[in-house]
Amino acid sequence: MEKVRRKSLLYRSGLGFWCVNHAQGCAHGCRYPCYAYMMARRYGRATDEADWRRPRLVENAVELLERELARRRDRIDVVHLCLTTDPFMAGYPEVTSLSLAIIECLNAHGVRASVLTKGVLPPELADTRFHRGNTLGISLVSLEEGFRRRFEPGAAPYRERIAALERLHAAGCRTLVHIEPYPTPDIVRQEIEPLLEAVAFVDELYFGGWNYSPLAGAPVQRDRFYREQARTVRGFCQRHHIRGTVDS
Ligand code: SF4
Repeated sequence: MEKVRRKSLLYRSGLGFWCVNHAQGCAHGCRYPCYAYMMARRYGRATDEADWRRPRLVENAVELLERELARRRDRIDVVHLCLTTDPFMAGYPEVTSLSLAIIECLNAHGVRASVLTKGVLPPELADTRFHRGNTLGISLVSLEEGFRRRFEPGAAPYRERIAALERLHAAGCRTLVHIEPYPTPDIVRQEIEPLLEAVAFVDELYFGGWNYSPLAGAPVQRDRFYREQARTVRGFCQRHHIRGTVDS
């Protein structure tokens, strides 16, 4: 795997939370489209999709993080992995190893990690060296593998993502499912209930629509569809005592 060096790692994202991205590019190659890819193209960090899907590891990531955490005067509670790449990228064990080292470094400094992946969360995340306050999450918007192959071609199969998350939940970790961008019937015909049932064990759930794309259909129908899905999701979270956030 190719490597790059950076001058800094930890930053506060435009969304208001602290974040690290310790790889450049992402082999998952999502086609919703991926906002990180669009930005990388705009600013010259990726020439095309093939280039974006050839990730480069930030080889001095832990060294930078140690230095940046030691220098900080204000307290950071949580750091998110990642916004512009995937911390457990399918087929890249080097990324997984570095993500584990980063989470260990954060936890050793008293900082919790929040993790979101379309890969497979490794069982090591349940080790006692990691903070029990870490939040371990998967992105999941469908159970249809045909949909995954079309829109998340390099990501891990859905059942593998869910199984890894469930194992960590059973081991006492805090788990999250991030259901966004949830597709409208114009994109794929599916029912939301089986998807919710497949992750009924999680502690937290986030639901959001597929906005800003003509693929999602006419705004009136789309808004009506998301209002109905939001009602179903809220009811499900209440019944299963899941902390739910619905953005629609
Ligand atoms: S997993 Fe995330 S960063 Fe990677 S291509 Fe998909 S949306 Fe982009």
